[in-house]
Amino acid sequence: MSSFNALGLSQAMQTNLAQLGYERPTPVQAEALPPVLAGRDVIAMARTGSGKTAAFGIGLIERLKPRRFAVQGLVLCPTRELADQVAKALRALARARHNVKVLTLCGGVAIGPQIGSLSHGAHLVVGTPGRVQDHLRKGTLTLDHLSTLVLDEADRMLDMGFSESIEDILGQTPAQRQTLLFSATWPPEIRKLSEGYQREPVDIRVAETEPKPDIEELFYELEPGQQTDALAAVLSERQPSACIAFCTTKKQCDDVAGDLSARGFEALALHGDLEQKERDSVLVRFANGSATVLVATDVAARGLDIQGLPLVVNVEPARDAEVHTHRIGRTGRAGEAGHAITFCTPKQGHRLTLLEQRRGTELSWGETESLLAIADRPVTPAMRTLAIAGGRKNKVRPGDILGALTGDAGLPGSAVGKIDLFDFECFVAIEAELARQALRRLETGRIKGRNFRVRLV
Ligand code: AMP
Repeated sequence: MSSFNALGLSQAMQTNLAQLGYERPTPVQAEALPPVLAGRDVIAMARTGSGKTAAFGIGLIERLKPRRFAVQGLVLCPTRELADQVAKALRALARARHNVKVLTLCGGVAIGPQIGSLSHGAHLVVGTPGRVQDHLRKGTLTLDHLSTLVLDEADRMLDMGFSESIEDILGQTPAQRQTLLFSATWPPEIRKLSEGYQREPVDIRVAETEPKPDIEELFYELEPGQQTDALAAVLSERQPSACIAFCTTKKQCDDVAGDLSARGFEALALHGDLEQKERDSVLVRFANGSATVLVATDVAARGLDIQGLPLVVNVEPARDAEVHTHRIGRTGRAGEAGHAITFCTPKQGHRLTLLEQRRGTELSWGETESLLAIADRPVTPAMRTLAIAGGRKNKVRPGDILGALTGDAGLPGSAVGKIDLFDFECFVAIEAELARQALRRLETGRIKGRNFRVRLV
């Protein structure tokens, strides 16, 4: 495999990458970086976890002229969550250079502070299309000096209805810009977008053929009925920050999640029988770090945008090799090993024989007896969730909640995690130790001058 120094990166960037623990480029990076660094347009099919952020991020930073205080790079993302993630990655990559200013411009938060930050100037902007448009309209952002525009997760942006916004923004950038388009899928609309706005793009498709990053797999043979004990043992031993446990039936999901909860684990069941409201609440708590284990059926997990987990457990082996590969594909980030553990009763053994035959390699089996001997040690989630009985329709915005918590309630901003806003309800992740304090303060204090019912979920 190639190395970063063969790509002609600056010495500072190479040192920085080494410090970040990036030893060699991922396949997307190896293919995309040469044209990106050469200033060419690129269209790349790449999913989350492929290292796509650094594939454009290294290019943005290396090509930047820090002395020129104008927005030189703009990354458009479908969601605030992704924008925050991208901005964080860019800031880490930018340590290779002095004084690179990265700004996020997303909706759902007050526009005032953003205007203030923009007036101080920025080199790179990461944002969602709607809010970037707002700033262009107000004249608080100009793209006259833009050299590179990145469309990240372009397919999702189109799905979310941002196509007109994107075209509007593109229309306000210099014609000789570099345009980089990243997308996990390849629908006709993406090709149209590329044809309309890119010049002789280099076409990169590694996602489909790219082998998943290392996944360390371990198999255990169990007697029927030992699954929950074995799962509790795995969790107790490995203390993962998050884990999806796959089951076959809805009933099994409920049983396993119920048993684990009774034993002190923060486990939630996810299956097709949940009402939308329950499903939202489950996903919110899992994604914001308040629950450790999501016990799910394949069908329920299908639409989830949850990747890069440290651990996946198959409470029952998947019916076929393809489903197995898909399940365990949720663990493992680029360059970092994921862990997948599969339980199997003697009766289910044939499923794994087929898997073994298909792979042509032997599966490695763990010792069931020593696994089951591990005493329960529930994983303590980093966060707890507060539910506030006010949402979008009550004109509550994430900024109001953040304000109430950090202002009147006196919490440090760093203690507040994800804020998920629904029509009539809002969920806020709070650092576990401070959750009770936050609850008390919100119960007595006010949000936007009003009293909303608050509870710990
Ligand atoms: P992404 O697909 O951009 O969301 O990246 C997925 C994860 O892989 C992130 O946590 C990156 O920090 C990490 N990563 C990106 N490039 C590399 C690399 N060359 N070596 C190791 N880890 C990487």
